[in-house]
Amino acid sequence: MSMRIDLPDPAATAAFGARLASVLQPPMVIGLIGDLGAGKTALARALIQALVPGTRVKSPTYALIESYDSPTMQIHHLDLYRLRHPAELAELGLADLLGPRAVILIEWPDKGGQETPARDVDVRISRVGDDARSVELVPRSRAGHALDERLSG
Ligand code: ADP
Ligand code: MG
Repeated sequence: MSMRIDLPDPAATAAFGARLASVLQPPMVIGLIGDLGAGKTALARALIQALVPGTRVKSPTYALIESYDSPTMQIHHLDLYRLRHPAELAELGLADLLGPRAVILIEWPDKGGQETPARDVDVRISRVGDDARSVELVPRSRAGHALDERLSG
């Protein structure tokens, strides 16, 4: 089962990010999939800002990872686009971050190959028009299915 939602403008994407945040339960690994400019970072930003109000969310394009603390979760936002080899991901020590309170958001998860942790859900974003996007949630684990159900319910 997977759900598709229309996001006619950036405000809709921001609202979807906040809605996703409201049903999120750690631990959770989320893949953010889509072309450059699809809105992966925009969605991650809305999700993180819903959990940590007022925080500045930079794209992790160069740093590979940016981390945030909420009262109940540790949020790690990764962008693997510039990863040259999956071994670089191993060097980041990501495995140590996979605790019970962790929420891990990964743009370009496939670039990490086998080093990318198993995802609970993939969020696929595609460009429909200048400002319009379409998002599809693809659950990949039991926790991912539960998230999908909380989102639809
Ligand atoms: P990605 O991380 O997927 O490469 P970004 O989130 O950095 O993409 O950029 C998305 C771009 O698309 C931003 O410039 C944003 O303003 C624009 N945009 C236009 N419409 C939307 C929308 N509905 N949702 C998200 N971003 C949108
Ligand atoms: Mg991005």
